[in-house]
Amino acid sequence: MENYYQPEIECASAEQIRAWQNERLVKQVKHVYDNVPYYRKKMVEKGVEPGDVKSIDDLYKLPFLTKDDLREAYPYGLLAKPLEDCVRIQSTSGTTGRRVVAFYTQNDIDLWDECCARAIVAAGGTNKDVVHVCYGYGLFTGGPGLNGGSHKVGSLTLPMSSGNTERQIQFMTDLGSTILCCTPSYAAYLAESIIERGLQGSIKLKAGIFGAEAWTEEMRHDIEEKLGIKAYDIYGLTEISGPGVSFECSEQTGMHINEDHFIAEIIDPVTEEVLPEGSKGELVFTSITKEAFPLLRYRTRDITVLSREKCSCGRTHVKMKKPMGRSDDMLIVKGVNVFPSQIEMVLMNKGYPANYQIIVDRVHNSDTIEVQVEMTPEMFSDNVGEITGREKELVGALKAMLGIYAKVKLVAPKTIQRSEGKAVRVIDKRNLYK
Ligand SMILES: [Zn+2]
Repeated sequence: MENYYQPEIECASAEQIRAWQNERLVKQVKHVYDNVPYYRKKMVEKGVEPGDVKSIDDLYKLPFLTKDDLREAYPYGLLAKPLEDCVRIQSTSGTTGRRVVAFYTQNDIDLWDECCARAIVAAGGTNKDVVHVCYGYGLFTGGPGLNGGSHKVGSLTLPMSSGNTERQIQFMTDLGSTILCCTPSYAAYLAESIIERGLQGSIKLKAGIFGAEAWTEEMRHDIEEKLGIKAYDIYGLTEISGPGVSFECSEQTGMHINEDHFIAEIIDPVTEEVLPEGSKGELVFTSITKEAFPLLRYRTRDITVLSREKCSCGRTHVKMKKPMGRSDDMLIVKGVNVFPSQIEMVLMNKGYPANYQIIVDRVHNSDTIEVQVEMTPEMFSDNVGEITGREKELVGALKAMLGIYAKVKLVAPKTIQRSEGKAVRVIDKRNLYK
């Protein structure tokens, strides 16, 4: 089998990409309007008809779709093809409410496999590779997605699924796995386990494709060093297809979005206004080739930045930065968008435990933000001068990350109140939204 790389698509000119998007969008809007009463109603409410969308310049006219819509329409309300044309479902974990079920025709599965195949090729994969997939299989899209992509590339695919670390390492050494696909936290755990067993010399891994959870650059370097590989990021969501909506190339400066299948927009999460390229905002996707479950202007809640800067890999598809937060969690402090995840990243990078609280207040019409952070027992035994020094260091690091001053207060271990279930990270005393 030949290598799967398709430069004619992934390196197409901007004009060509736009032409594909225009043609496919017009077709998709008609398909959705004709076959999904739920969506037709939303379009009618917004006073837009399929004929009003003649190119991607008209995309803004369409209504947004949110996770609430998907939950409301559960299970069949957004299905755009007869059930007899569907061959598979996948589903979200449903940890924050009702599950979302996505439907696939065989063409939709092929499209998804193609996106994942591109991700594997971008990580250096060919038909000579042994692709070790330890994302979960089942309703979760991680395992089936990379599995299908690996088949398409022609690599030998090990459908390991998650867990059973002993067996993972055994197969990895016996069969000479070269590309590892899993969550970054599991990759870090596998790396530790391999080192503990002194097996670094027995593994043949060269690359890893890691996604489905947030991870830092520090974590990337750590995994790369321990496993002796290059670690690539991959992004996707069940609603849009699964992993492979975008993926990193050798440059590792953002993830190329498969623009022949998905149109990306960045909007202001509060005003819903479309923002110019290069702005930080909420990522919105329109799937222009999906048949069974096509979503138009789906708000992902992920906050990121798009960039069309020329990439050294030759791919021309727009790149998105690793998501830097969720619009649901966004705080506006002194007019600046602040995400708890940004603060958490700074704390993690500086070696603090994940016990912190962000207190936002308004004093004399001016916003204030204070971050209370628990020290480790070792830090707690430092003298007062050292603790003050640590606080100053954190203030500087937070300023660099957020662009505003945040007061830092280091507190004794185990003093921040623990809550049952999800931790309360933010206390907003301004009552702005109540
Ligand atoms: Zn690239």
